Amino acid sequence: MAQSQALVPGEVDVIIVGAGAAGIAAARRVIAAGRKFAMIEGSDHIGGRCVTETKTFGVPFDRGAHWIHMPDLNPVVKQAGAVGVDIYSAPPGQKVRIGRRYAREGEMEDYLATQVRAHRAIDEAARKGDISCAQALPKDLGEWQKTIEFALGPLSCGKDLNEVSALDFSRSRERDIDAFCRIGYGAMLAKLAEKIPVQLNAPATRIGWGLRTGVDVETPRGTVSGRTAVITVSTNMLTSGKIRFTPDLPRRQLDAASKLSLGSYDHIMLELPGNPLALQRDDLLVEKADSNKTAGVLANVGGSTLCMVDVAGRFGRELSAQGEKAMVTFALEWLGNLYGTNLKNAVRRTAVTRWNEDPWSLGAFSAAAPGSQSARRTMIEALNNRVWFAGEAAHETLWGTVGGAWESGERAATEALKSIGALKPVAEEKPVPQQQRKRRS
Ligand SMILES: Cc1cc2nc3c(=O)[nH]c(=O)nc-3n(C[C@H](O)[C@H](O)[C@H](O)COP(=O)(O)OP(=O)(O)OC[C@H]3O[C@@H](n4cnc5c(N)ncnc54)[C@H](O)[C@@H]3O)c2cc1C
Repeated sequence: MAQSQALVPGEVDVIIVGAGAAGIAAARRVIAAGRKFAMIEGSDHIGGRCVTETKTFGVPFDRGAHWIHMPDLNPVVKQAGAVGVDIYSAPPGQKVRIGRRYAREGEMEDYLATQVRAHRAIDEAARKGDISCAQALPKDLGEWQKTIEFALGPLSCGKDLNEVSALDFSRSRERDIDAFCRIGYGAMLAKLAEKIPVQLNAPATRIGWGLRTGVDVETPRGTVSGRTAVITVSTNMLTSGKIRFTPDLPRRQLDAASKLSLGSYDHIMLELPGNPLALQRDDLLVEKADSNKTAGVLANVGGSTLCMVDVAGRFGRELSAQGEKAMVTFALEWLGNLYGTNLKNAVRRTAVTRWNEDPWSLGAFSAAAPGSQSARRTMIEALNNRVWFAGEAAHETLWGTVGGAWESGERAATEALKSIGALKPVAEEKPVPQQQRKRRS
């Protein structure tokens, strides 16, 4: 089909670019308002960074998001009842391995108390300015220093703490209660998108927003015309130049997107039949680390024989750049060392994600650079009162999560609908009070 041909006939009220959590939420919002939309997705599937596959292991494997944070408040869970998916609570707490044994009660208390101290120091620093989390950390974390740095940095934000804004970290809403979905988080999202028509394999290559009215989105399969648009692609996608904006995207938005660049976070999946590590279902484990070459583990995922080893931050980025073999070798050796066992003989199938190489996201999730928390607000601003950005990066407190992406998609679609008179303006929602933020780390 030639570029000038219409991919979707006529003009729609809202063009939605991207069919991840934000795009799906936006589409549902437009459907609820009874308005016309077109949803275009560059890849061959929906879900974006929240996608489940079952082909590799015959059981669900969430390639991206897996943890359903704060299920009682999570906007995706609120919708999930209607599609009948089974959600169960994650076991509370975590295990810490110290060499070849588990941390004793007193050691766990010490670790958790040190972690609380680190959180407090970051919150305190954030009240005064926007320095990096690394600068804000107390200097006397002693033997837990590397573990705390890993847990708060790579494991929570996908970046090392010197690259993370203390204000962004401090404003992130509580994430300490979690749940899992039996069919996978991505499969649950896909159920919520079942009735939404999506044009797959239709990447936006040019977005024209300077017209007298409306927006044009070009794809290799044709053009879509709309009165407004909601753009949900990742910040790294926005700054990559893969989508041309005419006129150019204002510097303000480009700067904001680059200050909210994506961190690195990947799963290394190991199929370990016979439970050689004698762990429980969905046990979360970290080690008392002495370097940044460390990982987090979710064992026996959902009662299966799958073990999810997560690598992230600078080390995770370097490792994933070396490819699948190096990632699996690291995971087997690292985990084997912690348990004093040779896992190379125990492991069956393996799989890894390499989100930095994923052409449709170019990374894992956003964390604001030091001094840049306000960039999230900029991402929420409209262009010409007809283009809105949405996605996890465009959420001030739930950034880096599926719930945040979902809320941002709903918000952007609501604004787009209001701009064309399809919705009456409603009173602003009251912000959720800030509680002490704790993470699953
Ligand atoms: C490994 C990993 C683990 C994570 N763990 C968790 C977790 O446990 N819990 C949690 O809540 N969150 C987690 N997250 C974060 C969560 O997955 C994301 O915050 C969320 O899925 C982002 O949704 P989104 O809609 O903003 O973006 P995306 O999901 O990236 O959606 C954007 C869509 O746009 C499409 N697109 C890109 N370019 C174009 C184009 N040019 N034209 C058309 N379409 C295009 C993409 O293909 C994609 O489908 C994790 C992420 C990763 C990578």
